[in-house]
Amino acid sequence: MTMKALVKSRAETGIWMESVPVPKVSTNEVLIKIHKTGICGTDLHIYNWDDWAQRNIKVPRIIGHEFVGEIVETGPGVHGFETGDRVTAEGHINCGICRNCRAGKRHLCHKAIGIGGGRDGAFAEYLVMPAVNLWKVHDDIPSEVAAIMDPFGNAVHTALSFDLIGEDVLITGAGPIGVMASAVCRFAGARHVVITDINDYRLELARSLGKLKTLNTSRESIDTVIKELNMSNGFDVGLEMSGNPEAFNDMIKHMYHGGHIGLLGFLPPETEINWDDIIFKGLHLKGIYGREMFETWYKMSQMLRSGLDISKVITHKFNVADYHDAFDIVHSNECGKVILEWD
Ligand code: NAD
Ligand code: ZN
Repeated sequence: MTMKALVKSRAETGIWMESVPVPKVSTNEVLIKIHKTGICGTDLHIYNWDDWAQRNIKVPRIIGHEFVGEIVETGPGVHGFETGDRVTAEGHINCGICRNCRAGKRHLCHKAIGIGGGRDGAFAEYLVMPAVNLWKVHDDIPSEVAAIMDPFGNAVHTALSFDLIGEDVLITGAGPIGVMASAVCRFAGARHVVITDINDYRLELARSLGKLKTLNTSRESIDTVIKELNMSNGFDVGLEMSGNPEAFNDMIKHMYHGGHIGLLGFLPPETEINWDDIIFKGLHLKGIYGREMFETWYKMSQMLRSGLDISKVITHKFNVADYHDAFDIVHSNECGKVILEWD
């Protein structure tokens, strides 16, 4: 049996639609028929075959990790999931036996392997996953939203790391994750939510998800907003979602003493910061990777089922045959989440 898949088969720019064997399920695994997938910035790095991709990806590899699909086969030992279940999954596969895994902190497993990077991924007609990683999608949640629960989970994990009620929040970077985080912060009771970017399309997208203050930092300064909102001190919570050193430094400068910063964006290794601001202001920094298994997933589902609407972050949908156009749109940054349809 063969299937179509988007494969990084050569160490050069591009990905290619190929015919490959359908993976076989073993004990404790399920076979999923993929319905929809989301394109992540990581997939674009792999497509472009940049330095990061060259260091981290071995070819050939089926890429992709954001998906929703349907179970079509269960292997021996699988409990709690059945053929026909609509599922997405946590894409980080953990060892299950390290200190953190055994302490129930599986998101901190030091041996985690990601689908679509360290092993074959979801940009294919079929995907095999360990059942323990699956998340059953509630009937209330549309499939296209379920397809982006992975990046939505990054937003939720970061935002809900902090007490948000009545707090003033600064988000740097209105990429899809920053935009979703802004909606989560408001939903969770923050007072002011300010989101920055240097791309007006992205700021407009942030506004389309609800009421918040947007700021193009290539034209305006954060100080102006602080005055406009009549805030007396700095921000209580900062969510760094741009991966841009200037944005991070600007955030540190505008935090209130004792504030909390969540670091999600991948900052370059040469990033320099003013340590005085961290030390003398007593700021707390927290690195965020992935999603908490499975508390983040639980919170995502329940918020979606009780009124949080992130659907507008999905701006483009393509049949998978048109994947080149889809990657072009992601590359342009004139988009939110881009979906590839496999069904
Ligand atoms: P994205 O690249 O689509 O969004 C980043 C945004 O930051 C862009 O809109 C860009 O215009 C903006 N930006 C650039 N310079 C800026 C500046 N000086 N000030 C303000 N904004 C600026 O990425 P995304 O998919 O939304 O993800 C956000 C970040 O999180 C990325 O760095 C991504 O690599 C990272 N990420 C981390 C994890 C994790 O587990 N830690 C998981 C997924 C993504
Ligand atoms: Zn582990």
